[in-house]
Amino acid sequence: MVETKNNIAIEINDLSKNYHGMNKMALSSLNLKVKKGEIFGYLGPNGAGKSTTIRLLMNFIQPSSGRATILGLDVVKDSVAVKRKIGYLSGESAMYPKMTARQYLNYMRDLHPVGDMKYTKELVKRLNVELDKKIGELSRGNQQKVAIVQALMHKPEVIILDEPSSGLDPLMQEEFYKLLEEAKSRGACIFMSSHILGEVQRVCDRIGIIREGKLVAEQNLLNLASSGITIFDVTFKDRVDQKALKNIKGVQKVETNGSSATVHIQGDLSPLLAYLSKQNVSRLETKTMDLEELFLHYYQKGGGSK
Ligand code: ADP
Repeated sequence: MVETKNNIAIEINDLSKNYHGMNKMALSSLNLKVKKGEIFGYLGPNGAGKSTTIRLLMNFIQPSSGRATILGLDVVKDSVAVKRKIGYLSGESAMYPKMTARQYLNYMRDLHPVGDMKYTKELVKRLNVELDKKIGELSRGNQQKVAIVQALMHKPEVIILDEPSSGLDPLMQEEFYKLLEEAKSRGACIFMSSHILGEVQRVCDRIGIIREGKLVAEQNLLNLASSGITIFDVTFKDRVDQKALKNIKGVQKVETNGSSATVHIQGDLSPLLAYLSKQNVSRLETKTMDLEELFLHYYQKGGGSK
């Protein structure tokens, strides 16, 4: 899809957050655009800044600098209008434990006018929600299903989900992914944080990886193989010149073990091949980085830089 102002659902510009009394930025100059009709996975190790970003988008906390818009509305100045247009699922259970699921969903309908109840009823049925039990008496997974219904029932144009499938059994997870795909095909934008590799691979069109408050990678999952990183496992007849390998154009990372080296290279392979052709190489294997390796590459400290 060609990027125009109109098909951008979430736009984040130089957004930073420094919590009071912290000497480190929780989020540092984040720039990101997510389109309508796109499922964007927001990933990163614990403490990377994912929840901070989501809390900023929801205006639960305010930025130290920078701004974000959702459907063209400023998340701080137009916060009430924004909240009406979006669906949100929090990482922590924020529902009222003494209400039944039915009472809670009715209450949420007042905040998010739903129109007819057909879709809500469909969601309740497909997710097998126990409507008449008190929320506090439901298991973690069953509470999560109620939270999913309230996030989706008004067919919002933008859906923000903080680790949405935690606690769901595999069948329910699958049903939930179908619901997300249906929302996407009606043009909704979905921004979700997740730790589950299979889930990300299954549903996300694009991912962003954040580490120590900074976006370290953005990757379209549809063309992961063609635009990603290639891994070379090389064994040399004599010693490995780690410094020379690190200085080759496109090389991101070099790990050595005796006379072997694992080299991560992005983009054009020819500079590395040219170097290797002049060396005494006894074994060479190459492969394209898959999502799991991409995760590890960027999650580990120093990944993405030499
Ligand atoms: P994630 O969701 O990726 O695990 P967070 O956004 O929760 O990460 O945290 C990012 C950083 O901000 C961490 O270093 C965390 O300790 C810090 N942090 C989060 N919330 C607060 C807070 N309320 N006060 C101070 N520091 C915080």
